[in-house]
Amino acid sequence: MTKIPAPKQSENLDQDQFLTILSREEALARFEAALFPRAIASEPRPLADALGAALSEDITAPIDVPPFDRSNVDGFAVRSADLASASEAAPVRLKLNDEVIACGVAPTRPVLSGTATPIATGGPLPRGADAIVMVEHTQPSGARAIEVRRAASPGQFVSYAGSDIARGEALLRAGTIIGSREIGMLAACGIAEVMVARKPRVAVISTGDELVQPGEALRAAAIYDTNGAIVAAAITENGGEACFIGAIKDDEAALEAAMRRALADSDMLVLSGGTSKGAGDVSHRIIARLGQPGIIAHGIALKPGKPLCLAVCDGKPVVILPGFPTSAMFTFHDMIVPVLRRLAALPPRADAKVTAKVPVRIASELGRTEFVMVSLVEGADGLIAYPSGKGSGAITSFAQADGFVRIDALAEQMPAGTEAEVTLFTPHVRVPDLVIVGSHCTGLDLVTASLSHAGLTVRSIAVGSLGGLAAAKRGECDLAPIHLFDDKSETYNTPFLSDGLELVPGWRRMQGIVFRKGDARFEGKTVQEAMRSALADPACVMVNRNQGAGTRILIDRLLGEARPDGYWNQPRSHNAVAAAVSQHRADWGLTIAPVAHASGLGFIPLAEEHYDFALVKARKQRPAVQAFLDALASEDARAALAKAGFRPA
Ligand code: AMP
Ligand code: MG
Repeated sequence: MTKIPAPKQSENLDQDQFLTILSREEALARFEAALFPRAIASEPRPLADALGAALSEDITAPIDVPPFDRSNVDGFAVRSADLASASEAAPVRLKLNDEVIACGVAPTRPVLSGTATPIATGGPLPRGADAIVMVEHTQPSGARAIEVRRAASPGQFVSYAGSDIARGEALLRAGTIIGSREIGMLAACGIAEVMVARKPRVAVISTGDELVQPGEALRAAAIYDTNGAIVAAAITENGGEACFIGAIKDDEAALEAAMRRALADSDMLVLSGGTSKGAGDVSHRIIARLGQPGIIAHGIALKPGKPLCLAVCDGKPVVILPGFPTSAMFTFHDMIVPVLRRLAALPPRADAKVTAKVPVRIASELGRTEFVMVSLVEGADGLIAYPSGKGSGAITSFAQADGFVRIDALAEQMPAGTEAEVTLFTPHVRVPDLVIVGSHCTGLDLVTASLSHAGLTVRSIAVGSLGGLAAAKRGECDLAPIHLFDDKSETYNTPFLSDGLELVPGWRRMQGIVFRKGDARFEGKTVQEAMRSALADPACVMVNRNQGAGTRILIDRLLGEARPDGYWNQPRSHNAVAAAVSQHRADWGLTIAPVAHASGLGFIPLAEEHYDFALVKARKQRPAVQAFLDALASEDARAALAKAGFRPA
């Protein structure tokens, strides 16, 4: 039996939940005030596991380092007074004592006046000696003596006991984050274990009936649990010990039991999903029963991340992150990481920042602090930050983005041309070798594969043909892939080029009607016949494309005045059209042949579209651009394109 959640009065609930929306700053301040100050628990940690931990006590050096006066060179331990008169003209002869002080060998014979003892680098200075003469500055003189031709100052080439670290000296202070250098100092003093702040144990729970763990098969209408993995990794990155419990169904009793168990065993609980106003969202209601003071903020003026819920239950932070992975990640880093790091006794995160020009206007909601992911490319005079075009549900934007810009709650937009501060996801900027901005095509990956294998970084930013042309005109990319049909001249692409751009022919993509194989309305028909039978059947549902897409122009021509069911379903990609048809949400649509074939769908060819590149002439001589042009012309790429269903020009 499937349990269908009772319908909720979503308007009321919405008001309930988000009646008081706090600013980001206010929410964080209240959250921290409810948690700090607090004592940080500490624990002994073997040196080998101490990397990255925060020392919880001062450490005093228990011994001198070095522990004895030590030779810095290979040579002879001498009394410097013996050599006061030594010179090229009047060398001094010293008799050798009957021992050799190797490393780890304690001397047994004193160095008396007129004698010397052979000693290795690191050997302990024998009694009586006060300097070392380098072996290079001596000559053998008979079997058991040397001649020295220069004077030696007292202490020459000697490291005195405690000269590096003196016993009793403060070696490291509490709060120090242990790095490899600190580990070296501790090891030099013989310390095998240190007291460090105990890692906060953080339980992670994903919520949602739709979630399946990676590695398992995806059932219909299910999605993979992304947040579980993201959040656990981000906890580890920030000094916590993540304990992933799993994905729990949207069942209030089951979830409450899981939350209580998790909280009992850990210092902090992070959930994701179930915090928005959707039917079946229950986590926030459970929190109210888990402990005092309970919910501190629910509804925060953040974008993405408005439904974030912050709570403290009997001293332990409990957080519900929004369900969308990007929102979960931003809110975690912005609002949870500061608290987690304090619990782990780590200093605030030091994110690297750069300044870059944002080339297009970014609209922003007034009253919410907004984070916009950007990709960095090198412009004519400095870095350019391209906002990622994908929605808040998009996880791949993270892979393509280099960082993000923050738009203040009081700003309605970030105007085009703003010099913005970009917080980097990585410690350093890596500007790509080749930048492609425009319309995306899966064929592009087949051409750039060889560049990536050759170690060149390629960044392809999908902004559509017109967006790409604009970027190319501004000199912000090397190449703009375009497929623009000019009605007047009835040709593709060339009429759209302006000064400074040249056309590099790419490939042809066959556009056509997709349908499920075996559908008699389409199978074996011409385009005209298929359209007639589709429009004649009122039960036949289409899937359209968005305004502005090249494919949409073809659809509109085919339909004329007709508006069949499904016309208003207007996804933005070839793949979405294929998915709608193969999942029976629609019966036909227009897409390109390679996508239809990859989805195992039937295909009736309609018209060939030209996918070419507008090349920025000023950047043509760049090695990465040349490598791209070579790759495009190569037999390998042409064969790969043909195999995937494209027709190389
Ligand atoms: P919710 O807040 O539970 O309504 O979730 C909002 C959106 O995020 C829905 O589309 C969920 O399917 C999605 N979502 C929730 N949890 C996860 C997760 N752990 N991994 C990926 N997507 C999720
Ligand atoms: Mg959910």
